Formats: sequence, structure tokens, C-alpha cells
Amino acid sequence: MHPRRVTRQIHVGTVAVGGDAPVSVQSMTTTKTADVDGTLTQVYALAGAGADIVRITCNDVEAAQGLAEIVPRSPVPIVADIHFQHRLALAALEAGVQGLRLNPGNIRKEEHIKTVAREAGERGVPIRVGVNGGSLDRDLEAKHGGATPAALVESAKTEIRYLEEVGFTDIKISVKHSNVPTMVESYRLLSATVDYPLHLGVTEAGPLPGGLIKSVAGIATLLNEGIGDTIRFSLTADPVEEAKAGRQLLEYLGLRERKGLDLIACPSCGRAEVDVIDVARRAQEALEAENLPIQVAVMGCVVNGPGEAGSADIGIAAGRNKGHLFIKGQVVRVVPEDEMVEALLEEARRLVDEGVEARLAAADVGAAEIAAADRAQLIEIKGDANRAAERRRRVAGVAEDS
Ligand code: SF4
Repeated sequence: MHPRRVTRQIHVGTVAVGGDAPVSVQSMTTTKTADVDGTLTQVYALAGAGADIVRITCNDVEAAQGLAEIVPRSPVPIVADIHFQHRLALAALEAGVQGLRLNPGNIRKEEHIKTVAREAGERGVPIRVGVNGGSLDRDLEAKHGGATPAALVESAKTEIRYLEEVGFTDIKISVKHSNVPTMVESYRLLSATVDYPLHLGVTEAGPLPGGLIKSVAGIATLLNEGIGDTIRFSLTADPVEEAKAGRQLLEYLGLRERKGLDLIACPSCGRAEVDVIDVARRAQEALEAENLPIQVAVMGCVVNGPGEAGSADIGIAAGRNKGHLFIKGQVVRVVPEDEMVEALLEEARRLVDEGVEARLAAADVGAAEIAAADRAQLIEIKGDANRAAERRRRVAGVAEDS
């Protein structure tokens, strides 16, 4: 992964964006903003799923009034999403939002943008210049022959100029597009010319699984290049899914600390001694409900499972109608196959409470020997898939000959 590009730092309420701040996760509510309780319930769900900042539409006066009640009760900073009517941006500022998103494609009058910037500046509220390939200024589209990366970046830079002309620099920028290569190219172009923090997203990515794949393809490509300070997955799904996905992506890339479960499972194969898909699903449900911040492995056979998943905090592998429960690759218990998930859950809880050393010390007497015997029997019956012993002999032979 390339070093993170150096950007200015801004603050959306209590959340720092850009500079050396961790990459943050954003999501957006789907409720009517005037429905204060319904919207707050969703904001809490999004925050619980990993959203650091939540955006809420401010599309009419009732929505702005709703924001006045939502913002003080929200667990995370709120950004008002503004299209067409700059007066709603002013109303959202009055409601106390911690950020604004303006779409340069539909708020075009320079004096309106400057009026909002002056007011936001006085209140210390940042503005996201949120360019979107689907709602780009028609003149720019005509000039560039479509919503090209150059067109998206020009739109953003024109808006930034208006803001800077009134001394406003509390800015972050997005240049979203629904086409992944265009989105990636747009952000690359933008990041080469500005040092404001960037908000990444593939717009209108669509339903799962395609929407998820498009979002990961675009966002991860850029993060890997060191580009991006805050992200949003725009999925046609429950927004909790997009908050979760955003958070998970950052954890998997090592950009945020693990907050919840990381379940790894083998894809299963002809050697599997159990229905891996079913066991993994049941384990995921049980472990997610407890939100344990550990890496858990579910492996279909004891021949390769504990070795391949040796770096996991805890795992279980199936063999000869039993489950071999292991911690950091060392077998600590052998349980009947139909108790695998329950045993895994119980040991995972203890592992989180007591730590690895304590749980290794509490391993069942004889568990490692029983596991070794099961494994040896399976290799005897089915063969060693990796032919490890034979390979070791050959490697040793080559080393001795040379
Ligand atoms: S752990 Fe066993 S069952 Fe799973 S993919 Fe590897 S060899 Fe196959």
C-alpha cells in the first residue's frame, strides 16, 4: 500500500478528516428527515455498524426543522445533503449540522454558493463539494463530451474557487461516478491538483453483490494508492449494510483497528468433513451477535485446517465426526461435531475475557494428542493433500546434495 497522500485536515464536528486522521466511514439515512424518531433510530443503527459521520437529506423546510431536533441527539456528526436550493443549506446551518454537502451540478449561482460559504465559515462548518457524474453541470458535459474525469474535476475546481474567493477553505471534495474506471481516474486527477481531503465513493453502485464489488473496486484501488480520507459505499440496500461494508473494508486494508468479528473460513472442498457453509453461517450469526473483536476460523477438515488458519485467534476444524478447537493453531479441545459452533462461541468469549496465554494454559489434557491421532487417521485414509512429509524429505535431499 502506498503512503497516504498528505491532505489538509478539517473537522466534521468531532471527527477529523484528512491529514493524519484515520480514514472515516460515512453513510446516509433513507428515512424522511421530518420523521425525527425514525431518522434517529437509523442514525444510531448506522453508528453502531461503523459509520463515523452520517449524512441526512435536507430537501424541504420540514426536513431542516427535523435536523434541528436530530443533530443534538445524534451520536455522530450530521452532514446535511443539499441539492438545488441554497436556502435549505442556510436552514440546515441554523439547525446546527456539523457539515454540508453541496452539489455543484444543481446549485450553480455563484452568489448563492458564496452566501452559504460565508455563513458556514462563521459557524466553523465544513462543506463537501460533492460532484456527481449523474448530475453534472450540462455546460461542462457538453464542453468535455460527457461526464469525463476532466469534467468532474473542473466542476469541483470551479466550486472550490467560489469558496476560496470568500476565504472559505474548510473543504472536502468528492468526484463520484457510477463507472469504476471513470471514478478512479477522476480522483487520481483531482488528488494531483488539490490538497483538500477527499471523500471517496462509487455513486449509484446498485444492489448487492454488484454494488459491493464496484464500491470495493473503486475505493480500495484509490486507498491502496494513498488517496482518500473518508469513504461511503452507495448501495441499494439497507444503509446499515453500507456502513458495515465501509468499516470492514478499512479494517481489512489495515487502515482501521478491528472493531468487530473477522470470520475466515475455508472455501471447502472434497476433503471437507462437515458442511462448511452451514457451520460458517451459524458461527457468523452467533459470533456477530456478541461483536467479539477477534479473528475466527472455520475450517472443513483437520488435515489442513489448523495449520492454514494458524494465525487466527481461534478456530475450529472438522474431522472424524469431531470438532478440533484451536487457539493460534494449537488444539485446546476436541468436541462432538454437533457441538462445534457452541464450543467455538464459548471459547471465543473466554479468549476475549482471559487472553491467549490463559486459554492455552487451560487446554484440555490430551486434546492435542486426540487431534493428532484424528489427523493421522484421516491422512492415512485420504492422503495428505499437501504431501508435506514427502516435500520436506525432497527439500532436505536437495539441501544436502548442494
Ligand atoms: S481446510 Fe480442508 S476442507 Fe477446507 S479447503 Fe482446505 S483441504 Fe478443503
